[in-house]
Amino acid sequence: MKIIKTAADWKFFRASANTPVGFVPTMGALHSGHASLIRRSTSENKTTIASIFINPTQFNNKEDFEKYPTSLDADLDLLEKLNCDYLFLPNYNEIYSDNYRFKLSENSKSKLLCGAHRPGHFDGVLTVVMKLLNIIEPDTCYMGEKDYQQFLLIEEMSKAFFLKSRIVPCETVREADGLAMSSRNLRLTPTGREKAGVINKLLKSDKTLEQIKLELVHLGFYVDYVEEHWGRRFVAATIDNVRLIDNVKI
Ligand code: AMP
Repeated sequence: MKIIKTAADWKFFRASANTPVGFVPTMGALHSGHASLIRRSTSENKTTIASIFINPTQFNNKEDFEKYPTSLDADLDLLEKLNCDYLFLPNYNEIYSDNYRFKLSENSKSKLLCGAHRPGHFDGVLTVVMKLLNIIEPDTCYMGEKDYQQFLLIEEMSKAFFLKSRIVPCETVREADGLAMSSRNLRLTPTGREKAGVINKLLKSDKTLEQIKLELVHLGFYVDYVEEHWGRRFVAATIDNVRLIDNVKI
């Protein structure tokens, strides 16, 4: 796998890469959820490029950014094993030469759910993904349904700005007890990890939104929301100072 650090270098390799090109943007600390996106891309494209960039502008909480897990050596091993062709590994200055003077925002769906509880989060997400899509110019970009609101906003942004990339949603990969895989799960204590398995079970139950919220609070979660939108039921809840999100189709 070739590691690319600058947009200019990718432009050079992109020119002679076999097409179609599939792209999987990530923030690293890769797990089986990310692996499923890479597998999907390698099965549908001649060239697959992943990116690892912990995007500071989407963190509304400095501590969350500073504590975001990293495991670059293990990530490189996994990507090699998955036959990923390229890794785009830029630094902050490469992505934000403007120091975030320019940003993209959306005024409706981004104000709900995570947007309501993490001010500025989706501005950061949309801005970095727009930059990455403009640099990588993939035919297809693969995104996880675990972050469904993010997928939806990026899909709609791609249409609104006439981007050439197709945005494809991929099913959430889960642990045996139903917990959606997430890089942040690494930060859970054993007790928190055990309780976290309840989130998905409650989401899939026929309990009301209010009942689900009360049960989570009773277990010691701080609950940001349990809400339904776009035919799906969404939750965001924090335990051990770790914010977990999930959603299921209703
Ligand atoms: P992240 O590194 O958390 O920013 O995630 C990078 C991409 O992987 C996003 O499109 C996520 O939605 C996706 N992803 C993260 N966790 C999972 C999972 N458990 N199942 C499927 N996709 C996931």
